[in-house]
Amino acid sequence: MEYQHIIDAVMKENEALSALALKMYENPETAYNEVKACAWMCEALEHYGFKVEKGPYGMPTAIRAEWGSGHPVIGLLAEYDALPGLSQTQNTFKDPAVAGGPGQGCGHNLLGVATLAAAIGMKADLEKSGLPGTVVFYGCPAEEVLTGKAFMAREGAFRELDLAFAWHGGSKNHVGLGMGGGLNSAIFHFKGKTAHASAAWNGRSALDAVELMNSGANYLREHMTPNSRIHYVYKEAGVAPNIVPDRASVWYYVRSLRRRDIDELYGRLVDCGRGAAIMTGTERESEFQGGCYNTMSNKGIADGSAAGYRMVPAAQYTEEELAMADALNRTMPEFEVKKPEEPIHTGFLYNPNEYHISPGSSDVGDVEHIVPGIMVNTASQNYLGVNHTWQTTCCSGNGIGFKGMMRGGVWMALAAAKFFRDKELVDKAWETFKKDMDGEVYECPIPKEVPIPQPQQ
Ligand SMILES: [Zn+2]
Repeated sequence: MEYQHIIDAVMKENEALSALALKMYENPETAYNEVKACAWMCEALEHYGFKVEKGPYGMPTAIRAEWGSGHPVIGLLAEYDALPGLSQTQNTFKDPAVAGGPGQGCGHNLLGVATLAAAIGMKADLEKSGLPGTVVFYGCPAEEVLTGKAFMAREGAFRELDLAFAWHGGSKNHVGLGMGGGLNSAIFHFKGKTAHASAAWNGRSALDAVELMNSGANYLREHMTPNSRIHYVYKEAGVAPNIVPDRASVWYYVRSLRRRDIDELYGRLVDCGRGAAIMTGTERESEFQGGCYNTMSNKGIADGSAAGYRMVPAAQYTEEELAMADALNRTMPEFEVKKPEEPIHTGFLYNPNEYHISPGSSDVGDVEHIVPGIMVNTASQNYLGVNHTWQTTCCSGNGIGFKGMMRGGVWMALAAAKFFRDKELVDKAWETFKKDMDGEVYECPIPKEVPIPQPQQ
């Protein structure tokens, strides 16, 4: 087969790459604290012959590594942050390895290493074929708080690319078309005046302000576009019922399908806060946490990637892995309704005419508004697996996850091989991109004055 050398180059590293993913599973680090993962990824990239820059864009846990020269310049988007509270052992019941500790509940250990696997395959392909082309590997911190890539973009990343590839583990082998929501994240702080809650009348409750702001926000729901979402949690709400709280704060996410809709809805939410402060005689301050664009899969790259998938070798699962996936499926709430036909998905889903709206967000959307990009998925968990659960943490630390990860790496490298060989495919992706952008120009949703979070360890 024309592309066998790519598959061989990646699969030769199966043991080393699975060991690296296991090390990251055993040492989960949350957003912006990916110090060890970043160091291990840099070491590996250097070992495989890439020119590595650790901590570019003012972000200590980011990476920019490259190999090759000339066009097309193909970017790979790696992530390696874990989720708080999702620590899990290799048991098929909820059993944190560290009580309350972080865990790879979205499989970003697999994501980082799958992307490295793709980089190895792409380099091997360019070396063997002698074709022009550059591989740029971006280590992107903090996807789980949806701001890492936006900060990187603000500091100049991604514009050098012709195309960008991302992979994410999931329950299906799949490339999807359509969009996922973008968002703004902000904490609203209110400052009032404390007093005895029963014996005095001169207090000004910051908590009242938060509650009135939330009432206003909840009344927006009838008047926002159907794909918009508003969620909030209280960050601070007073200490005792008999003390008028002089400080209270609420953390909001505002999501919508296009940046302009997010900005409009966010503006109305800010007005709710302003109104609440006036009504309660309190002061208000908003602390903008960050934001990201909606995702926007590029059909030109999706078509090329789907063709690449057909060459990816099938996964060979052991009896033990199949039994574990089956046991995990039985723990999923929808098991009785959606009885899976197999413990782990082995088919392939791509419909070039079907567009989906996804409720979730990813900061890959920012990159997809700068250059044409795609995210592909391979099965790296049980058939009914859902990201951000202990079941996914479990799969991210064993052969189920590692096999999906290696297949994801092989797939991206095979897909890239098509674009290295056919410039027209790259042009087609750009035509689609311009049409999808519909005149929109990427502007980083995080203002210049918002500082880049630094590691806390
Ligand atoms: Zn994720």
